[in-house]
Amino acid sequence: ETILEAKHLKKVYYNNGNAFQALDDLELTIHEGEFVGIMGPSGSGKTTLLHLLATIDEPTSGEIKIVGTDIMQLNEDQLSNFRRKQLGFVFQDYNLLDTLTVKENILLPLALEKMNVSKMEHRVEKIADRLGIRSILEKHPYQISGGQKQRTAAARAMVARPSLILADEPTGALDSKSATDLLESLKEVNELDKVTILMVTHDAFAASYCKRVIFIKDGRTFTELVKGGQSRKE
Ligand code: ADP
Ligand code: ADP
Repeated sequence: ETILEAKHLKKVYYNNGNAFQALDDLELTIHEGEFVGIMGPSGSGKTTLLHLLATIDEPTSGEIKIVGTDIMQLNEDQLSNFRRKQLGFVFQDYNLLDTLTVKENILLPLALEKMNVSKMEHRVEKIADRLGIRSILEKHPYQISGGQKQRTAAARAMVARPSLILADEPTGALDSKSATDLLESLKEVNELDKVTILMVTHDAFAASYCKRVIFIKDGRTFTELVKGGQSRKE
C-alpha cells in the first residue's frame, strides 16, 4: 500500500521581493512498512520537505497524498484531525511535558482518543518494551537521559499507531551510544510492527539504518540508494 505520494512539489519562499525556490519538482513515494532516509547538504530543502509532509506548511504547487488523502483539500480543523490520526512526529527537541511522568507523556495521544484505560496501559507497555524504556515509565522527563527522552518521544509518536512517522534529525542531540540505541529501536518497530518511518538526517550512521536513502540537492532528488539483501555490518 502507498502511504505517501508527493508529485511535482515546488516550494518558493518570498522575502523582500526576492524569490527562492527551495523545492524544485520533487517527487517522493513511500510504501507501507518502509524505513526511508532523506539526506542532503545543508540548504538542500530537507526541512522544507518535512514541513510540507507534516502539513505545517503548504507547497507553492504540486500534490501530496497521505494514505490516499489529498492534504491540500483539507481545512484547518480537518488537518489537525488528520495530523493527530495519521502522523507521528519525532523531532530533535523532545517536547516532553516535565509535569507528567514518562508513561503519562506516552499516554497523551491515546487519552485524546478516549481509549479505555486497560487498552491504553497495554499499548503503552508494549511500545515501552520495544523502545527499552519500561523501567523508567514512572519517572519524570527531568530525571532521565537525553537518549531516554528521545525514546520516550518516539514512543509517544508511535503509540496511537499513525500511518507514518516523520523524524527530523532524531539523533542530532544524542551521543553515539544513545543514538545507536534509538536507531536500533526504530529498526525494531519498523521490522516487527511494520511502522513506516521517514527520517531526515545528515548523519551517515543514522542513514545506514534506513532500507532506502533519498539524497536531495538544490530541492531535487539527486540519487537514491536501496540497500541490498546483505545484513548490516555490526
Ligand atoms: P535543509 O533542511 O536541507 O538545510 P531547508 O529546507 O531548511 O534546507 O532550506 C532550503 C533553502 O530554503 C535554504 O536555502 C534556505 O535558506 C531557504 N529557506 C528556508 N526557509 C526559508 C524561508 N522561510 N524564507 C526564505 N528562504 C528559506
Ligand atoms: P492489541 O493492541 O489488540 O493488543 P497488538 O498490540 O498485539 O494488538 O498489535 C496488533 C497489531 O498491531 C500487530 O500486528 C502489531 O504488529 C501491530 N502493531 C503493534 N505496535 C504497533 C505500532 N506502534 N504501530 C503500528 N502497528 C503496531
